Amino acid sequence: MKTSIAIIGAGIAGITLGRNLSGLADITVFEKSRGLGGRMANRRREGFSFDHGAQYFTARSPAFKAAAEQAVAQGHADIWPRAVHTLTTNGLVADSRPTEPRYIGIPGMSGFANGLAEGLEIRKEASVARLAPSGNGWALSDNEDRHLGHFDLVISTAPAPQTIRLMPETFSAHAALKTVKMSGCFTLMIGLDAQLDLGFEAARIEDPVLSWIAIEASKPGRSEKTALTIHSRNDWAEANLERDRGEVQAEMLQSLKRLLGKNFSTPAWLDLHRWRYANVERPVGQPFLFDPALGLGACGDWCLGNRVEAAVESALALSEILIARLQGA
Ligand SMILES: Cc1cc2nc3c(=O)[nH]c(=O)nc-3n(C[C@H](O)[C@H](O)[C@H](O)COP(=O)(O)OP(=O)(O)OC[C@H]3O[C@@H](n4cnc5c(N)ncnc54)[C@H](O)[C@@H]3O)c2cc1C
Repeated sequence: MKTSIAIIGAGIAGITLGRNLSGLADITVFEKSRGLGGRMANRRREGFSFDHGAQYFTARSPAFKAAAEQAVAQGHADIWPRAVHTLTTNGLVADSRPTEPRYIGIPGMSGFANGLAEGLEIRKEASVARLAPSGNGWALSDNEDRHLGHFDLVISTAPAPQTIRLMPETFSAHAALKTVKMSGCFTLMIGLDAQLDLGFEAARIEDPVLSWIAIEASKPGRSEKTALTIHSRNDWAEANLERDRGEVQAEMLQSLKRLLGKNFSTPAWLDLHRWRYANVERPVGQPFLFDPALGLGACGDWCLGNRVEAAVESALALSEILIARLQGA
């Protein structure tokens, strides 16, 4: 009988791991949300489409570059060839043309993960709340104590602060997990009835509140409707995480007005998303965590860095160890 493995989280790390291990083990991926991709996210409302998490990804290792190019060939990804400027209160001060391809998912950022997930067994809207020792493995249950299954090995790809809450105290990498620091982010989504010419299509922002703005229609495969995605700074988000959402939105709009000279307070569509764990400030500094005696492990961007590719590298490194274990078993 094949080893059964539960993977918690269908972000890019969980899906990469699942793909690499399928065939060698019985894989079930549990995802608490309705959609796949985790922080590679896309939200569609009223004909507007927003990549409200990761904006694009780069692929530097040959393995990930090959995966990204394959996704382009299959229509799950494309290259976003537009310049990313820098915006300050003094105006547009720089135009940093891309020196390496900036990949995006098609038709939204989550499309990349959806493409890779084809053929995997994924249980959506299944939030794992507890791991209990059971025989030689682990019994998983949700918040309402519903049994989710029994597995020989369990790997969490949830952000480190959520993985800590899942792993038993006996997990040998508990101390390493505690060293990780992640920060939040607010994302403002603005949909407009009219076309908008800002003189740029994407910009990093130097401002006490905001850090990024993109016009979604500048990306290949997106809706023509004018949709703006704006990220706050991580340090500003951390200081305002528990603040009233209306106040957060108002302050972000005020900053936008100061920077662009435009008032977006009554657009056709306005929405705010709070990322509690958006970016990695201090990673573990090792590619993955694995406790072979307990059969528990963890991987994700927070092991190595702050990017989609860090999440993929982490998952690939853990899959190598697991493949060796499965083949030796
Ligand atoms: C606002 C923002 C902007 C970003 N910009 C960029 C960028 O431009 N370029 C870049 O490369 N990276 C960017 N990133 C970072 C990038 O999105 C992440 O590095 C990457 O997506 C992390 O993937 P992951 O699989 O490790 O984690 P995640 O994508 O977080 O996946 C973890 C999954 O686990 C699920 N989960 C959590 N707990 C449970 C549970 N108990 N049960 C079941 N499921 C659970 C979650 O719902 C999620 O789907 C950005 C992130 C954010 C939030």
